[in-house]
Amino acid sequence: MNDVVMYDVIILGSGPAGLTAALYTSRANKKTLVLGGDRLGGQTAGIAVLENYPGWAGSGSELAEFMKKQAETFGTEIVFTSAKSIDGDADSGFNILCDNGRRYVGRTVIIATGASPRRLQIEGAREFMGKGVSYCATCDGFFYHEKDVIVLGGGNSALNDALYLADLAKSVKIVYRKGAFTRAEAVLRNRVAERENIECLFNTDLTKIAATDDERLIVTTTDGAQIVTDGLFVAIGHEANTDYLSEDVARDNMGRLAQGSLPAGMFVAGDVESGIKMQIATAVGTGCSAGMDAIAYLNSKS
Ligand SMILES: Cc1cc2nc3c(=O)[nH]c(=O)nc-3n(C[C@H](O)[C@H](O)[C@H](O)COP(=O)(O)OP(=O)(O)OC[C@H]3O[C@@H](n4cnc5c(N)ncnc54)[C@H](O)[C@@H]3O)c2cc1C
Repeated sequence: MNDVVMYDVIILGSGPAGLTAALYTSRANKKTLVLGGDRLGGQTAGIAVLENYPGWAGSGSELAEFMKKQAETFGTEIVFTSAKSIDGDADSGFNILCDNGRRYVGRTVIIATGASPRRLQIEGAREFMGKGVSYCATCDGFFYHEKDVIVLGGGNSALNDALYLADLAKSVKIVYRKGAFTRAEAVLRNRVAERENIECLFNTDLTKIAATDDERLIVTTTDGAQIVTDGLFVAIGHEANTDYLSEDVARDNMGRLAQGSLPAGMFVAGDVESGIKMQIATAVGTGCSAGMDAIAYLNSKS
């Protein structure tokens, strides 16, 4: 049995959203605990060169380490464990059971557990990740200036990615397993149709990724065709990390949470927040907002 400490704020997640929230709450003298999951920095840990977070030119993991130290300077405590369940409420305290077997209790909770891109499960997808296979057009598109790329998927994200890449790359092929972009908004469908350097391959999926001798990718399609490309951008959806929350909590179609659907004293920030553009800058912005909302909530109760 561990001694139960009541924290003012417990933050789930040590990505940029969670660490920013922690900086704000601990600097406002609120007793703050970050339950950091299985890796400091979350998705930023996999970014070797981070070029679009203003004021930063290092790696994603260096940024996370810096954010952690900054929050700790103001008293934030961090434990690397993942929440398994949450019960209770703001009046009695939110009671968080973690996979290290311990319970942590907080007067408020900030959920910043991120969302993971749905991974492509075909031969070569894992091997070539970061070596031609990308899950983020906004992050990596810049490296494909005047090159040939493929976007896999057919929803709004895929079409947005294709349009973003069409401004940079020489050619963009959208590979989609269905016969039309019925899940995407008409305005995006029209814009894609108007772009001369975008070609759509319908009723097609990918079965394999390999490398050519000159370090390009060669992808095999379901009809046996082989396409040589410089980059493959996978946009087949995201899944929010919210398994530890009860099924009663409303989620959008990606499992993400809207602030309005959460109980009093619970706040959400970063990629796990419904409707957010999934970037470090937005994670930091919403982390700041959630931290300030938690501070205001606590002050209104004291
Ligand atoms: C390959 C790749 C490259 C990218 N490149 C860029 C880029 O160049 N620029 C850019 O702006 N964005 C980039 N992004 C997107 C960016 O990394 C994310 O938008 C950002 O990290 C989201 O921050 P977050 O704090 O909301 O979530 P995350 O970074 O996903 O962090 C979530 C945190 O929650 C923890 N966690 C998960 N489950 C639990 C649980 N049950 N209990 C406690 N903790 C839990 C995780 O361990 C992690 O610490 C990239 C993403 C990927 C995948």
